[in-house]
Amino acid sequence: MPLATVNPATGETLRTFDALDAEEVERRLAAAEAAFRTHRTTSFAERARLLRAAADLLEADEREIAEVMTTEMGKPVTQARAEAAKCVKAMRWYADHAEGLLADEEPAEADVKDSGASRAFVRYRPLGPVLAVMPWNFPLWQVIRFAAPALMAGNVGLLKHASNVPQTALYLEELFRRAGYPEGCFQTLLIGSKEVEGVLRDPRVVAATLTGSEPAGRSVAAVAGDEIKKTVLELGGSDPFVVMPSADLDRAAEVAVTARVQNNGQSCIAAKRFIVHTDVYDAFAQRFTAAMKALKVGDPMDEETQVGPVASERGRADLEELVEDAVEHGATVLCGGERPDGPGWYYPPTVLADITPGMRVHHEETFGPVATLYRAADLDEAVAIANDSPFGLSSNVWTREEADVDRFVRDLEAGAVYVNGMTASHPAFPFGGIKRSGYGRELSGHGIREFCNITAVWQG
Ligand code: NAP
Repeated sequence: MPLATVNPATGETLRTFDALDAEEVERRLAAAEAAFRTHRTTSFAERARLLRAAADLLEADEREIAEVMTTEMGKPVTQARAEAAKCVKAMRWYADHAEGLLADEEPAEADVKDSGASRAFVRYRPLGPVLAVMPWNFPLWQVIRFAAPALMAGNVGLLKHASNVPQTALYLEELFRRAGYPEGCFQTLLIGSKEVEGVLRDPRVVAATLTGSEPAGRSVAAVAGDEIKKTVLELGGSDPFVVMPSADLDRAAEVAVTARVQNNGQSCIAAKRFIVHTDVYDAFAQRFTAAMKALKVGDPMDEETQVGPVASERGRADLEELVEDAVEHGATVLCGGERPDGPGWYYPPTVLADITPGMRVHHEETFGPVATLYRAADLDEAVAIANDSPFGLSSNVWTREEADVDRFVRDLEAGAVYVNGMTASHPAFPFGGIKRSGYGRELSGHGIREFCNITAVWQG
């Protein structure tokens, strides 16, 4: 993929960028190693001061960087601003909490005595330069979600961002520089995905985190495995949204629409499969389809727009192929399903019913505003359909029965269960998946400890 800003609303190439040459990559790896030697010894107070400074700058830049993101990947500009604000919040949260989350841990006194120690504790020490391979769909948030905890832990970051968001990638490097971080603490590597292996094999890079597709995750994890380097993988999702008879149907249908079309439908934690109890299926399908049809699709720079274009021509073609395959195999189109004429990579909000396991949409991720509807006879069948997916990122359930909640929390194969609401990450909660959605966690104490050397200290 060329490194370029191509506006998805028009298809126009606005700017292209040259990839860094080998010499420049080498210079940046050396800078990262040198920066780590100093940054690892700084106090939490100093790290928090720097991160708060970066948060303040980002807050001031909110409108400007939102327009850059919208131009590069097409999300509605109001949602781009909300993404910037969410980053500011996470940065401040880690500035406030990192020291507590990484405080020394003392084993029970009896165990210390049993080990023969006069004193013993666990210390979370930083690891070194971490490579972050990131996607375009939340071009600020995915990076900050990694960078804020990594920098607070004393690590330094090397960002290989998606090729279609180079301006956002360069903004991020500049943001940390302007905040006062020493050179080398956070650098953007403008390189193609073929260059990732060389960087990851470099002995100065100690670990990697990747948010993106399954093939990218497999490729990075294979190289990291060969090098015995730690990885965190945040991959695709096809989250279920289960509606039971006791649910508040109006609210469930309203939230279902937002959960599906947020970020033009290109979110790993978007609800994608809507599994509805047969007693309320028709009522839910009617409300949901009507609301999907009523969405305002258009120019993502327009404040009123709710759904903009898909980020790339390839992305739209992938979506169309999935819909065509479903229709060929018997799915019913309740709304949408036809690409509009005109420039840009628009695709209408689409609802497909009568989904069967033979269709690709049943087990592949629909990365765009396409929802699939399933009818479940009872709770057991709802759980079975929800779990019949290679993915296990998050899940959403709507019910007012506590017994239902207990069953879903016990049985749904996912990294999160959201009850009577839609999945939305928060700095204090762990985020991540199981199965083909990846492994490891971001955010919260679990996230910041992923790239730490958990050191046992024993004193005789
Ligand atoms: P992608 O094609 O996998 O790209 C993600 C990043 O990986 C980009 O920087 C890309 O670089 C790089 N990459 C691609 N192939 C690679 C390879 N073989 N080796 C090394 N790096 C490689 O994914 P995307 O289309 O940008 O993002 C969509 C996917 O991300 C969806 O599946 C979505 O569900 C997932 N996602 C997951 C989460 C989560 O938290 N679990 C969050 C957001 C998105 P280039 O751009 O240069 O190819």
